[in-house]
Amino acid sequence: MTDLLSKFDPLIQEREALLSTGVADPYAVVMEEVKSPTVAICNGRETILLGTYNYMGMTFDDDVLHAGKQALDDFGSGTTGSRVLNGTYQTHKECEDALKEFYAMDHAMVFSTGYQANLGMISALAGKGDYVIIDIDSHASIYDGCSMGNAEIVAFRHNDVEALEKRLRRLPEEAGKLVVLEGVYSMLGDVAPLKEMIALCKQYGAMTLIDEAHSMGFIGENGRGVAEAAGVIDDVDFILGTFSKSVGTVGGFCVSNHPKFEIMRLVCRPYIFTASLPPSVVATAATSIRKLMHAGNKRAHLWENSKRLHQGLRDMGYRLGTPEAQSGIIAVMVEDMLEGARLWQALLENGLYVNLARPPATPLGMTLLRCSLCAEHTSEQVTQILGMFEKAGKEVGVI
Ligand code: PMP
Repeated sequence: MTDLLSKFDPLIQEREALLSTGVADPYAVVMEEVKSPTVAICNGRETILLGTYNYMGMTFDDDVLHAGKQALDDFGSGTTGSRVLNGTYQTHKECEDALKEFYAMDHAMVFSTGYQANLGMISALAGKGDYVIIDIDSHASIYDGCSMGNAEIVAFRHNDVEALEKRLRRLPEEAGKLVVLEGVYSMLGDVAPLKEMIALCKQYGAMTLIDEAHSMGFIGENGRGVAEAAGVIDDVDFILGTFSKSVGTVGGFCVSNHPKFEIMRLVCRPYIFTASLPPSVVATAATSIRKLMHAGNKRAHLWENSKRLHQGLRDMGYRLGTPEAQSGIIAVMVEDMLEGARLWQALLENGLYVNLARPPATPLGMTLLRCSLCAEHTSEQVTQILGMFEKAGKEVGVI
């Protein structure tokens, strides 16, 4: 018998070598207790959370929690069914109504995760003979959506407007084209030049899908994302997002003004062949989304936190993923996995949790300590975080 797991031996050996140096396993952290959007107990110690994507800190909002508890009482713990059979409850419709209002768009479709939303939308929209044009640093769910479909895939250099034009120019004029972009790229926290890119897509007759997973709720005057901030939201065909970041629960969605959008419910396999979200989850999402419409003060505070952390880390001598704060993600670049794991552990022992990211999730073989800020981080917490980075960085010899 061929052991099908033997192909993972190199990874097993790499992990064993890393753990034998005495560092803790960065992929096995347990949140033993969660006190607020910004504080948890890890390894018995109070820890500031700086790697949760909980940008708007909605996970403990009183109204959100109340809506979830009420739906649990009124509708039960789960739907036990697909959206197209018995799994559409009033709560799912209310959640889609909240999304339509939030984005001021005609249609909204809620999936069970953002991952599934990308799988479903990309594979159903682009079929045989069509082209999907993607940024080379796209999220795994975008790549997997491409693999699931039958279209030709064309990748272009990250955030490179000229490279996108070169690709579009070479494609057959009459072919169907879907350009998939992200508002914020989650590894480095950099923003796409959507104004230029969307204009090119229009020029070359390509439809556009923008994944705003990391910008919803935060970027843009109404929190609609980078497309809003860039003034091109009316030119985008589909906006896709998740409830697992600013919204503070789990789920995915796509919104659109396309008049035929509703047919997607009958052709997206990851929408049809899976159970719908529990009513309590969509009820919390709907409440959170409605509150995010009026969260201008929180957005301003999150920008302040993000800019302060960026500036502070840069002044200490850390190498960062962007020249200035462009989103709620600040990525600290380190030499390699060992240095990354040492710094990561030193921070955790000092009471700070960040994400350690490595290839294949990261671009260009980078190891990153990814920080994501929260609107609920106080200014004092940002000061504490900077102090922890200074201490841990000196201990490990990164700065
Ligand atoms: N798109 C992007 C850009 C993401 O970063 C993520 C999650 N990290 C997803 C989609 C998937 O979202 P979800 O967690 O809802 O599956």
